[in-house]
Amino acid sequence: MRYALLADIHGNLEAFEAVLRDIDMSGGVDEMWCLGDIVGYGPDPAACIALLRRHRHLCVAGNHDWGAIGRIDTSDFNADAAAACRWTGRQLSQGDIEYLDGLSTVETRGDFTLVHASPREPLSEYIFAAATAAESFRHFDTRYCLVGHSHVPCLFELAGEECRRLDMPHVVSLGGNRCIINPGSVGQPRDGDPRAGYAICDEDTLSIRHRRVPYDIAATQRRIVECGLPPALAERLGGGR
Ligand code: ZN
Repeated sequence: MRYALLADIHGNLEAFEAVLRDIDMSGGVDEMWCLGDIVGYGPDPAACIALLRRHRHLCVAGNHDWGAIGRIDTSDFNADAAAACRWTGRQLSQGDIEYLDGLSTVETRGDFTLVHASPREPLSEYIFAAATAAESFRHFDTRYCLVGHSHVPCLFELAGEECRRLDMPHVVSLGGNRCIINPGSVGQPRDGDPRAGYAICDEDTLSIRHRRVPYDIAATQRRIVECGLPPALAERLGGGR
């Protein structure tokens, strides 16, 4: 079985469509695994939900997904994120709201645990540092945990008692140590590479391939401005920050 690992789409339809084309050109997948934050920041939240739902998929809730429907407190969001969150809420149909409301914060499939942020705090904790990752390994039982939230592709590997942070290699070979894997962000990358990020997990070859896909960034930026969303949300896409 092959799975597409998608995180932090954030209402960026141009990026999401480019990723889906790349998945097709790479031989397709059996299922999409979405690590949350389908919406928030970007100009096409409802279209991104609809597009994901047209595919066989598994999805966990992100803080923006539940922020947009008023299910969690967003007082810790910065001003631009909070403004986008309120705007996003107004774009959603009753069906969209029910879909987001019905997502779980944790899903498990075989050797994989899926969460948005971290297995300890699935909606809020950023895993940037090896020390945080080391703690996280105590909070899930499977061999691997897939996370998003930081929008930075990376890999944390537990070797004995030692937890190491690695930049996301092009190909990760599974079957060895326990790992926490972040495939990067489809719709708002923050690692300095503005291309959409995602990964393909292949159970047969026991590998995860990290992919970067160019998309029409200027089109998304125009849409953000047209929709009256904060202009800074358009600007940051250009630098991948
Ligand atoms: Zn996010």
